[in-house]
Amino acid sequence: MIISMKKSATSEQIEHVKQLIESFGYKVHKSKGTERVIFGAIGDERGKEKLTCLEAQPGVEKVIPILSPYKLASRETQEDPTIVDLGMGVTVGGKRLLIIAGPCAVESREQILDVASAIQDSGAHMLRGGAFKPRTSPYAFQGLKQDGLVLLGMAKEQYSLPVITEIMDIKSLEVISDYADCLQVGARNIQNFQLLKELGRIRKPVLLKRGLSTTIEEFLMSAEYVLSGGNSQVILCERGIRTFETATRNTLDISAVPVLKEKTHLPVIVDPSHGTGHARYVAPMALAAIAAGADGLMIEVHPKPEEALSDGPQSLRPAEFKAMMEGLRRVANAVGREI
Ligand code: PEP
Ligand code: MN
Repeated sequence: MIISMKKSATSEQIEHVKQLIESFGYKVHKSKGTERVIFGAIGDERGKEKLTCLEAQPGVEKVIPILSPYKLASRETQEDPTIVDLGMGVTVGGKRLLIIAGPCAVESREQILDVASAIQDSGAHMLRGGAFKPRTSPYAFQGLKQDGLVLLGMAKEQYSLPVITEIMDIKSLEVISDYADCLQVGARNIQNFQLLKELGRIRKPVLLKRGLSTTIEEFLMSAEYVLSGGNSQVILCERGIRTFETATRNTLDISAVPVLKEKTHLPVIVDPSHGTGHARYVAPMALAAIAAGADGLMIEVHPKPEEALSDGPQSLRPAEFKAMMEGLRRVANAVGREI
């Protein structure tokens, strides 16, 4: 249920209503908008009669049921966009777009430092690089693991870029948290509910990638797992879904951007690299994503894609990334955003 306070409600009235909701056994999510305070009462719907009676309390404007199955992720609970703080002055969810770039996997010291230097030079805000890689084949390169994290940390310090890397299982949570500014949950793990619950307990931003066959509602329910654990710093990433089409690696669902932006206050970014699987389609889809209202992008960049140990065909060369950024500035400007 949502309890919307009047514009004129006093702080005593607001506090009293909060205490009443808690006394009914509900968890309270307080959202302070520009005009009024809104409470989300999260818990067993069976006690909703008591909540409905709150309408009689001084300062309460109305009590409205939350219709969506995801409560904390819903725009109904929080109208203002969530701004996620990634550290080092980088945020996502506001006017400024978040551009994350880097290799699919950290491969060597030289490779990650080269990419970090190039993407920083082109205006990217955050460095990506997998150290624990979820590969379809057990014989494919699985990532440098902790050594990869150390190299990522080195690039972070040298180029002052916050870093994001994928977490595949709970047992690597501690070591990844030591290095990463944001933890990425990959498409294949988006319904690993145990992992999502653990990520709800930490106080670091989490980026959730849409699964290969995840509906928007299921995607938001995954976000709800992290939010309901107490971690409000969640970013959503559309990265293509599996359809009958084979010309592209996945089908990038650009329509997921306006749909998600309508349904949730969480930031939404797009990954056109995994979305298309081909470097030549990455820039056009990146521009389309920003035009559609995305809050940022995640782009794979490799100094020598032909030698990449994973996802070479979809990786941009640094010069291609730079050219894409120039086009992006124009589109961002046209839709009232900044890079
Ligand atoms: C990745 O970002 O390198 C990755 C494996 O992505 P996804 O989980 O979207 O396939
Ligand atoms: Mn990849």
